[in-house]
Amino acid sequence: MKRVGILALQGDFERHQKAVESAGGVVFLVRRAEELNGLDGLILPGGESTTMLKLLEDEKLFAPVREFCQRRPAFGTCAGAILLAQEVSNPSQASFGLIDMAVERNAYGRQIDSHVLAVHPEPEFARRTSEGDLECVFIRAPIIRRVGADVRVLASAEGAPVLVEQGPHLAATFHPELTPDLRVHQLFLKKL
Ligand code: GLN
Repeated sequence: MKRVGILALQGDFERHQKAVESAGGVVFLVRRAEELNGLDGLILPGGESTTMLKLLEDEKLFAPVREFCQRRPAFGTCAGAILLAQEVSNPSQASFGLIDMAVERNAYGRQIDSHVLAVHPEPEFARRTSEGDLECVFIRAPIIRRVGADVRVLASAEGAPVLVEQGPHLAATFHPELTPDLRVHQLFLKKL
């Protein structure tokens, strides 16, 4: 079974734990650098990316997590996707730069704190998982404003990518851990 780390400093790591376990992985919650040893991949959950960055610095985890993700696959959702991006705006902040994309934080505006959309994924996603729309829950979500040539878009909504991959890494601006559909977590487990 795949050994999946979940960064557990802040945010909704417990829902990811349930999703990974249902998808057939073994979960290790990561709060210290040595807990990265021996993992097959790492999930960066949703939450608040500025707070996560501060905690990553406080716990001396920023460099170890970046180094881990240079060797092994990472999967970021919402705040986690912001941490994986090359470029962050509104406001700009530090990130791991593992996926060549520009994200704008809280891009849907304050009046729409959260919304749910049925999204028809790209054929590539269905080929590697199975057919059917994805129910995408967006919570103070970022919008992906630019993707580089090496980034593959697996699903888009309202004219912007919402699920992307670059090499081993995967990022979603929505929260697949909040719906019973396990396909996005299954896709990540296949990449490990
Ligand atoms: N708005 C948060 C941020 O900018 C992300 C929200 C989320 O992860 N649900 O970090």
